[in-house]
Amino acid sequence: MSLDLIDSHAHLDLPDFAPDFDDVLKRAANAGVNTLITIGIDIPSNKKAVELAAVYDHVYATVGIHPCDSASATAEALSELADLAISPKVVAIGETGLDFYHKPYSEANQLNTLVYQLDLAVQTGKPIVIHSRQADATIAPLLVDWANGHPSHPKGVIHCFGGNIEMADRYIKAGFYISLGGYVTYPSSRKTYDVYRYIPGERLLLETDCPFLPPQGKRGERNEPSYLVQTAQALADIREIPVEELARATARNVRRLFGLPEIG
Ligand SMILES: [Zn+2]
Repeated sequence: MSLDLIDSHAHLDLPDFAPDFDDVLKRAANAGVNTLITIGIDIPSNKKAVELAAVYDHVYATVGIHPCDSASATAEALSELADLAISPKVVAIGETGLDFYHKPYSEANQLNTLVYQLDLAVQTGKPIVIHSRQADATIAPLLVDWANGHPSHPKGVIHCFGGNIEMADRYIKAGFYISLGGYVTYPSSRKTYDVYRYIPGERLLLETDCPFLPPQGKRGERNEPSYLVQTAQALADIREIPVEELARATARNVRRLFGLPEIG
């Protein structure tokens, strides 16, 4: 029996997928990855994401400016982003956030770009997709304040979560979902199994972040949506539940957070 999985964070617009795009989608469908959210990171990427969502029924898009691209967030780019945000099948704003790992960076630029996108999320009523790398201490209080200030807003997701239980708890209490990716399959992740077990089933999402972060056994290769199965299986084993149950719960969470139609 095939699983019903949703890849909640893929970068399908990137040139890595251009040579065999239709085969990538076919392999995903054969693996039970039936819905894909493609994540925009800058204006050209957002435009492609919106185009892909228009062409493929089961692909949805988000539009945003990634913290590592925040230098591109001119006034013109931000107003273009606001226009793209109301396109059909744009289900969230982001990926945005803070990244103090990739150098050099301007903290002020990243913060301004993040705050603009948090406002845009509220204006459009859409959730936010957050990237945080070596920046939790700065971004967590900001996101918690934002969430508390907008109680009826759908909040959003902390993608590729790599924090501890205490950090997970802060985000969960503020109403955020937590998304885990292929790194849960790495031997080095053993020390964070307690975090992977802690996240409540109704707040957990699965993602590939492809073409980045392939699961164990595919490391060094391009990641793709069909590999989500391996991550789902590993996480189900860690949480000691059947993979079908994990797939069902996480797919339901994605549909709830991003307002996707229910299927079957
Ligand atoms: Zn991403």
